[in-house]
Amino acid sequence: MAESATRITKVPLVDLKRQYESIQSEIQNALYEVIANQQFILGPKVAECEAEVAAYSGCSYGCGVSSGTDALLLPLMAEGIGAGDEVITTPFTFLATAECVARLGARPVFVDIDPATYNLDPSLVADKLTAKTKAIVPVHLYGQMADMDPLMQIAKQKNLIMIEDAAQAIGAEDKGRRAGSIGHYGSFSFFPTKNLGGFGDGGMIVTQDAARSQKVHSLRTHGMSTKYRHTVLGGNFRFDAIQAAVILVKLKFLDEWTRKRGDNAKLYGRLLNEAGLVEAGKLSLPIVSQVRHVFHQYCIRTARRDELKNYLQEKGIGCGVYYPVPLHLQECFKQLGYKRGDFPGSEKAAAEVLALPIYPELTEDEIRFVVSTIKEFY
Ligand SMILES: *Cc1c(COP(=O)(O)O)cnc(C)c1O
Repeated sequence: MAESATRITKVPLVDLKRQYESIQSEIQNALYEVIANQQFILGPKVAECEAEVAAYSGCSYGCGVSSGTDALLLPLMAEGIGAGDEVITTPFTFLATAECVARLGARPVFVDIDPATYNLDPSLVADKLTAKTKAIVPVHLYGQMADMDPLMQIAKQKNLIMIEDAAQAIGAEDKGRRAGSIGHYGSFSFFPTKNLGGFGDGGMIVTQDAARSQKVHSLRTHGMSTKYRHTVLGGNFRFDAIQAAVILVKLKFLDEWTRKRGDNAKLYGRLLNEAGLVEAGKLSLPIVSQVRHVFHQYCIRTARRDELKNYLQEKGIGCGVYYPVPLHLQECFKQLGYKRGDFPGSEKAAAEVLALPIYPELTEDEIRFVVSTIKEFY
């Protein structure tokens, strides 16, 4: 309705309250159950959540942990990766992906992205392999899986561990295979704004391998084998029952939310095309190369990114840049010795991407308002 469209003056980048309101009573019941049981750390709720998330992702085992970051750290620890080792990953990601590698004393070795998908370009990996390479950590950025077949082929040939950073991609598929199910490990984040978000920090490791599952479970609780017998050094990376209860409720709605994210992306694509902005070369749309992109982010690309971002924000439209500084140029990775120009695809993407609101509860009028405001800018 034109009337309601004119009344929209604000569209936040994310709005978790709308989602909560739609499932409020179920969430409250689940939380009361945990409170009544007073079993807060690990326990049956966590085990149930591990089984459900693993099954959803086409995996045999799940291990709930304290964050998505720890879901990346523990697999690296389980494989004994440390000083003297190298791990291949992308510089166009959230810091945690490479931070975990460096925390263990290993070296993140960056490989540039395919500019079409923003994911690690498999054809550039071979050049970066050395005798020290131990693992590959591809990131399924924005909710679209990296090109896993060629990456797995390299991993098999060179006997490398594959850890999928699927923090943004739960439910995404590459030729029918779910994110997290192809490599030796998959890592999810339940950070509240992720597609499947908890009420605090949390994450999960998924795997097909019983021994690997057992190892990460042990590392999660101080390397414990049986009560107060510690076989290896781990830490406190435990998952709590409140988070598990929230995730179990939300998991039932995830496919519906994912479908709505996809519908929103289609509507943006149609309206931006109709506005003539794509044809005129003002901006470009996300390229969907996979069967199932779960649109954690909907990022357009434009040479006038910063100007457009400021304009949209002035008009009350939330938008964000994921990520403005590629990891090889982060101060904390100075000692790795990279410089500007080393990864042109990532540097260009960092200067041009802009994420628009895409959450499932967004209305058609709000999307129309965002697009007409973008048109107004140009
Ligand atoms: C969110 C995210 C992480 C870290 O997850 P936390 O739960 O915030 O620790 C790691 N990698 C990527 C790509 C992410 O988006």
